[in-house]
Amino acid sequence: MQFETDFLIIGSGIAGLSFALKAAALGRVTMVTKKGQVDSATNRAQGGIACVLDAADSFADHVRDTLISGAGICDERVVRMVVESGPARVRELLEIGVPFENDGRGHLDLGREGGHSARRIAHAYDLTGHEIEASLLAAANSSPDITILENHIAVDLLLASRAGLASSSRPGDERCLGAYVQEAETLEIHTFQAKVTILSTGGTGKVYLYTTNPDIATGDGIAMAHRAGARVANLEFVQFHPTCLYHPKAKNFLISEAVRGEGGRLIDARGRAFMAEYDPRGDLATRDMVARAIDTELKTSGDDSVFLDISHKPAAFIKKRFPHIYSTCLSYGIDITSEPIPVVPAAHYMCGGVRTDIMGRTNINFLYALGETACTGLHGGNRLASNSLLEAVVFAEQAFQDCKKMWPELRAQKVLSLPVWSAGQAEKLEECVLISHTWDQIRRLMWDYVGIVRREKRLLLVQENLAILQQQVKRYYHDYLLTPDLVELRNIALLADLIVQSALRRKESRGLHFMLDYPAMLDNPTPFTVL
Ligand SMILES: Cc1cc2nc3c(=O)[nH]c(=O)nc-3n(C[C@H](O)[C@H](O)[C@H](O)COP(=O)(O)OP(=O)(O)OC[C@H]3O[C@@H](n4cnc5c(N)ncnc54)[C@H](O)[C@@H]3O)c2cc1C
Repeated sequence: MQFETDFLIIGSGIAGLSFALKAAALGRVTMVTKKGQVDSATNRAQGGIACVLDAADSFADHVRDTLISGAGICDERVVRMVVESGPARVRELLEIGVPFENDGRGHLDLGREGGHSARRIAHAYDLTGHEIEASLLAAANSSPDITILENHIAVDLLLASRAGLASSSRPGDERCLGAYVQEAETLEIHTFQAKVTILSTGGTGKVYLYTTNPDIATGDGIAMAHRAGARVANLEFVQFHPTCLYHPKAKNFLISEAVRGEGGRLIDARGRAFMAEYDPRGDLATRDMVARAIDTELKTSGDDSVFLDISHKPAAFIKKRFPHIYSTCLSYGIDITSEPIPVVPAAHYMCGGVRTDIMGRTNINFLYALGETACTGLHGGNRLASNSLLEAVVFAEQAFQDCKKMWPELRAQKVLSLPVWSAGQAEKLEECVLISHTWDQIRRLMWDYVGIVRREKRLLLVQENLAILQQQVKRYYHDYLLTPDLVELRNIALLADLIVQSALRRKESRGLHFMLDYPAMLDNPTPFTVL
C-alpha cells in the first residue's frame, strides 16, 4: 500500500517525539516505530539531561567541559548553540509535564556527573528517560495530527533519483521522498511518501556483544542513510559505558554515572581504589578514561569484573537518589546500601552518525537526522555525560525551525506515484538459525577486536571476516523474503564494516578511539572521518 503524509518520523524516542510535537503545528505527522512506542534508549536513560540552570554555573563552563570531553574535535559553534539553547528546551519539557526533581525552593535539583565542572543535570532520580518518554508519548498520543504506528520497521529510504523522478529544486541534488516500511505482523512492505523525512532511530549498541542499549539499537537510520548516499561520520567513536551491572541474569543493566557523581568509588576485587592511578580526577574522570582503566584492570588481573561502591553513603539517601538501581540490583541479590556492585564496561553510545549541519539537515534534501543517529559535531571524540538527551531536543527545534521556513513551498507539493516494493524471486526463510548465527558472529567479532583498545592488525582481520559475512547477508537479502530480523542483520553488518573502516582511517588515539599502533594525538586531526 502507499501512504502519504507531510512528515514521516522514523523512531519514537526523545528526538523523534520532540520533533513530532512541534511539526504537528505545520502538517500531518506519521511516526513509525519498529517495536512498541516506548522501546527506545530514551526510556532507559537514567542520569538526566545536562543544562545550565544554576546561577553558579555558566554557558562558558558547560561549553568548556563539552570541548574537553570531545578531545579537541567538537564543532565549537554547534557546542555553543546547543548549550545556549538548553534552558529553553528543558523548560519545554517541564511544560509538557516531565517531572524533573526540584529542590523544594522552586529550583530544579541538579545532579553532577563525570566530566562536568558543576551540578547541571536535570533529573527525575534515576528514571529520567522513562519520565521523559512517558510525557512526550502522552502529548503525542493526544494530538489529532500525530499518528504513531507501532511494529513498523523502516527498511530503506525512497529517493527521487531511484524513483526515476527529477531531483529537488536544487538541480543535481538528491531528494528524499519517504521510506519503505515493513509491518512486522503481516510482513507487508508499504510505501510511505512524505514531504520531510526524519531519521531518529537511535544508536548502534547491538553491533557489539555486550551493550547497555535496548534491542532496537541496530543503527538502522545510519545504515539506511549510507545506502542512500548520505554522508556518515565519526563512527570510530563508540562510547563504552564503564559501569554495566555484571551478573549472569542481568541483561544490559546500566549503573548510572551519577553513582560516581554522588561519591561512588571504583575498587577491584581486593578492595583497592584504582582510578586515582589513571586520572587526577579519580572516579569523576570522563567515561573513556574510566572504561579504559577498567579494561586495563580486568586484562591485568584476569578478574571478571571490578566493583562500584556507594555503600558508605546513608542507606536512605541511596534508596531515594537511586530507586531503580537499588531495586534492580536487589532483585539480583545485591544490596547496594551494604555491598559493592560488580560492574564491567559495555558499548553504550555512538558519537558518530549521519553527518548533519547545524539545522539537522543531511546532504540529501528533505532528509534530517536527529538524536543519536546524527553526527552534529557536538560530541567530537567523546560525548560528555547527559549531553545526548540535550542534543536530541535542541536539534529537534533546529530542524523544526528549518522546516517552518520551507513550509509554504513544501506544503504546495503534489502527491507523486512512487514505485512499490518488489520482492523479486525471494522465498520464505525456513531456517532462522542462518540469521541468528551470523548476527552472533558479527557482534562477537566487534566485541573481541574492535572494542575499547584497538590495533590495526586486528581491525584488518575483522575487515576480512566482515567482507565474507556481508556477502552472506547480501545473499540472504536477495534470496529470502524480508523479515524485521533480516532488516536488522543487514544493518548491523553494514554498521560493523563502517565502524571498522572509520577506525582504520583515524591514525591516532583520540577520545574514545584508542589505537595501540598510534598512541599519540595528531597535531592537525580531522574533525570528521567522513564515509
Ligand atoms: C541505559 C542508558 C542510559 C542512558 N542515560 C543517559 C542519560 O542519563 N543522559 C543522556 O543524555 N543520555 C543517556 N543515554 C543516551 C540517550 O538515552 C540516547 O542517546 C537517546 O535517548 C537517544 O534518543 P533517540 O531519540 O535518538 O533514540 P532512541 O530513544 O533510541 O529511539 C530510537 C527509536 O527508533 C526506533 N527505530 C529504530 N530503528 C527503526 C526502524 N528501522 N524503523 C522504525 N523505527 C526504528 C526505535 O524503536 C525507537 O523508537 C543513555 C542510554 C542508555 C542506553
